[in-house]
Amino acid sequence: DSVHIREDLLRMTELMDGFKASKALFTASKMRVFDVLHSRPGLDATQVAHEIKASVKGTECLLEACVSLGLLESKERKYQKPMYENSDLARRFLRSDAPLSLQGYIQHCNELVWPLFSHLESAVREGTNQYEKAFGRKSDDLFQDAYYSRHEVKLRFMKAMHSMAKITGKAVATAFDLSSFKTACDLGGCTGAMAYEFTKAHPGLSVTVFDLPGVVDMCGHFRPRDADNRVSFVTGDFFKDELPKADLYILARILHDWPDEKVHTLLSKISDACTPGGAVLVAEIMLDGRTPYAALQSLNMLAQTEGMERTESQYTNLLSKHGFGHVRVVHTMNFLDALIAIKI
Ligand code: SAM
Repeated sequence: DSVHIREDLLRMTELMDGFKASKALFTASKMRVFDVLHSRPGLDATQVAHEIKASVKGTECLLEACVSLGLLESKERKYQKPMYENSDLARRFLRSDAPLSLQGYIQHCNELVWPLFSHLESAVREGTNQYEKAFGRKSDDLFQDAYYSRHEVKLRFMKAMHSMAKITGKAVATAFDLSSFKTACDLGGCTGAMAYEFTKAHPGLSVTVFDLPGVVDMCGHFRPRDADNRVSFVTGDFFKDELPKADLYILARILHDWPDEKVHTLLSKISDACTPGGAVLVAEIMLDGRTPYAALQSLNMLAQTEGMERTESQYTNLLSKHGFGHVRVVHTMNFLDALIAIKI
């Protein structure tokens, strides 16, 4: 019994301290601790403090917290301060120049999601996002008024989407056999990171990325060195403008931003543009009783957007109203699941 109590208390401590762990990670990432220790492994706390222009006392606390979370490793030395280096996890995901770097997404969590979550109680009471309380600005259109209100905020949002799309892109692109499709349109395809994963996985496929003009203007900034010329960009508003013709429409982390009415508007436009045999590929984390990740991500959508995460059957129902059926779902074990539905 005392073993159970100890395990339960440990679990409760983990939950109560989750926010401290997140903020320690966000702060170390923002202060470039992982980049400093990547270029100069083996520094002690005084040297790291000098590099990141911070107090020695504060840096010691932060570095030890990172060690306890498995983000750094420390080597004890006799009569000298311990030396620090990145753990494998930090080398893989926290250096800003790692191919699968999460740094862009972590900064988004720190600067945008964190302030919104401090108003979670209001979000729950009101059932709406908390932009006005957190940032003093009302947002009628989530993207144009909130995410893209200022250039540096837009760039930060794009970096966050880019890092997530690079991590999830291959799993989504290879979830289904897409060899019968020649053209795809990635609606709200942002920096093109997902589109490049699709062309890499499917040599016969060309992808048009469709996004708002202010986003497409910046996509050169994110162009991979070996960029494939089968990826092209078109500007427009997917609720108002004509959609490019394609065999396959990709919706990666789009539907979760919007309430059902707006999802219907978008799906009806896709249905008009899509010929029978064409398809929609939805990439979202599905709320089907897996890890807490999906449910917590839905709270995130509540505080941040007009939407929510949905279950497989909710997506199936929404799509069926617009003539899409023969639904198949793949749980990728990555941050996104994939669902494909065929136009009948
Ligand atoms: N699909 C990308 C991914 O998975 O990384 C980005 C997802 S992000 C949550 C939503 C995207 O939809 C942004 O790139 C945004 O600019 C775009 N978007 C929002 N409203 C739009 C609109 N009305 N027309 C076209 N694109 C829009």
